[in-house]
Amino acid sequence: QRVTDVDRALRARAAAVIPGGMWGHQNAARLPEGYPQYFSRAEGCRTWDSKGREYIDFICGWGPMILGYNDTDVEAAATAQRNRGDAMNGPSERLVELAELVVQTVPHADWAMFSKNGTDATTACVTIARAGTGRRKVLLARGAYHGAIPWCTPSVAGVTEEDRAHLIYFDYNDPASLDTAVEQAKGDLAAIMVSAFKHDLGKEHILPTAEFAERARARADEAGAALIVDDVRAGFRLDMGGSWELVGVRPDLAAWSKAIANGHALAAVTGNDRFREAATKIFTTGSFWTASVSMAAAIATINKLVRTDAIGTMKAMGQRLRDGLDAQAERHGLKLRQSGPVQMPVVLFEDDADRRLGNTFCLNLLERGVYMHPAHTMFLSAAHTKADIDAALQAADESLAAVARL
Ligand code: PMP
Repeated sequence: QRVTDVDRALRARAAAVIPGGMWGHQNAARLPEGYPQYFSRAEGCRTWDSKGREYIDFICGWGPMILGYNDTDVEAAATAQRNRGDAMNGPSERLVELAELVVQTVPHADWAMFSKNGTDATTACVTIARAGTGRRKVLLARGAYHGAIPWCTPSVAGVTEEDRAHLIYFDYNDPASLDTAVEQAKGDLAAIMVSAFKHDLGKEHILPTAEFAERARARADEAGAALIVDDVRAGFRLDMGGSWELVGVRPDLAAWSKAIANGHALAAVTGNDRFREAATKIFTTGSFWTASVSMAAAIATINKLVRTDAIGTMKAMGQRLRDGLDAQAERHGLKLRQSGPVQMPVVLFEDDADRRLGNTFCLNLLERGVYMHPAHTMFLSAAHTKADIDAALQAADESLAAVARL
């Protein structure tokens, strides 16, 4: 049985004291049976489950790990700051240094603010856009994820209609549907919010077209509304300046989290001068939002990402993985649908509505020490080496053989 005795025992204890045993997307019950729920350690591009079984990790903590778990430079900066102080009565000078670094790195940013989770940042973007425009309507792409509170959570439990009263939906990469949504907002348009690319769960991942991105920019400008890019998932993996630099379109506001401090809890909102005053007016805060350790970690992370061309490494390793899988699938007579940027891939199978093929593939990988996801965006890191990719491909070859035998 793939679920270990240690994992099973922890789940049994959790079931008594944690609702449902676990909440949210990290609940192993949302994965095919066999995935570990608990982890004991992580280093480089590897994780160990609670029984000490080792995996080459292609989820990278669901995105936060970008330079490698326990990165020496990031952890040295974090430890140095921890020895001085973390959550104090106010921020340390790391806050100013980090804001300066972010403004210098991200072309649309004239300012930056920090919080802890992606949801904090996407919510602040919406609030700032409404404060700045004095309007209410916010346009969102259907199926996109912007966080886990009532205005945006994918679950409807505990959510009222009023929580979402001023949201209007359109289809990502469909300029006509965006136009329709803009018209519906009439004179009340506060913001158009888009994710970096279309990365809906279980679906092919699709980059924004230049036409769509330019239309979103133009419609926001015509209406005097904000264009918001939710870069929580993709931030610093596609382009250090923000993901829509790839299509040459700059947002007014952007939300960041996940990878910006290599696993330390931090989120950011960046914005341009048009929304500086609005950002000043809103009241936003949190008990840990000025804590300095994660800021020191973010400074070290950003500097190292730039210094080492981490994005170049992730792209090269992601391409090696994609090419390898494509070649193997062809040899096994299987049809893979690999999509998304190579450093943020999703690997699906043709004709696999019930995910039998994808789940079999992933469970076989798991048994061979490779942690992938059958439906969610995966993440490469700068710690993945050619040897790691080749080891993962060896496991993939055997796993695809198992799928071919189904
Ligand atoms: N937006 C996107 C695109 C995300 O991927 C996520 C997290 N998966 C969020 C927002 C919410 O971030 P968090 O879970 O840190 O609140």
